Amino acid sequence: MKIRVLTLFPEMIEPFFSSSIMKRAVKKGIVEYEIINFRDFANNAYNKVDDLPYGGGAGMVIMPDALSLALESIGAKGKRVIFPTPSGRLFTQQDAQRLKEEDELVFICGHYEGIDQRVIDEYVSDEFSIGDYVLTSGETASIVIIDAVFRLIDGVINKDSLSCESFNDKLLEYPQYTRSLRYCSNSVPDVLLSGNHAGITNWRDEMRLKKTMQFRPDMLSDASLSIKMRRKLINITDKEFLEDL
Ligand code: SAM
Repeated sequence: MKIRVLTLFPEMIEPFFSSSIMKRAVKKGIVEYEIINFRDFANNAYNKVDDLPYGGGAGMVIMPDALSLALESIGAKGKRVIFPTPSGRLFTQQDAQRLKEEDELVFICGHYEGIDQRVIDEYVSDEFSIGDYVLTSGETASIVIIDAVFRLIDGVINKDSLSCESFNDKLLEYPQYTRSLRYCSNSVPDVLLSGNHAGITNWRDEMRLKKTMQFRPDMLSDASLSIKMRRKLINITDKEFLEDL
């Protein structure tokens, strides 16, 4: 996959591509990247890329000129061009699954109050919000989306690690434990030390349901649970109901 990031702050993006698992994916040739500073396309005396909003209001807006020249230089029209913005649709794991199939992704990092709407109308295929809060810039939001996508590409990380993760089957992941056996006064659940694989799977399934009920009950209504899992869920809710009495 080729990833291109258009930004005014390349120094915020570069470390992500040259660290950890992404660094390995780049080295293996699974991911290629290009960071483009669209200020380089400004053709005015001060390389100015932003101006006051028409209609008044606080802050600055990124002008269309330099940004669209940068987009033209990579033939962005018709490509998957993503603009992370708080006013976009909420980005989810399903979007990450869909985007990992693309050969090329282009990201536009907004700054200040955002970018001129005409650039969005002309080039952008997806406007994604990464959550209900406002960041100072699109660099961090782009990195979040790139991270969620590239780790799903074949060969980036072990397939087994992806097979039971939060959001698979619309459930959250079970709690994880590792050495040491003793930590503070908390012990590791006995079943995980029992060697009983059926027991471990049963405990993990129960924990996935409990965690989802606790933190993301909204996901349960969409989850396509097997009859076995539905029975477990009924058991858990019955137990909690009785405990509350
Ligand atoms: N004026 C914009 C608004 O109220 O919707 C906020 C602009 S924000 C200060 C600057 C840039 O940060 C945005 O253009 C966008 O690229 C990025 N950004 C901020 N919050 C974001 C979020 N929740 N999801 C995705 N991108 C975000």
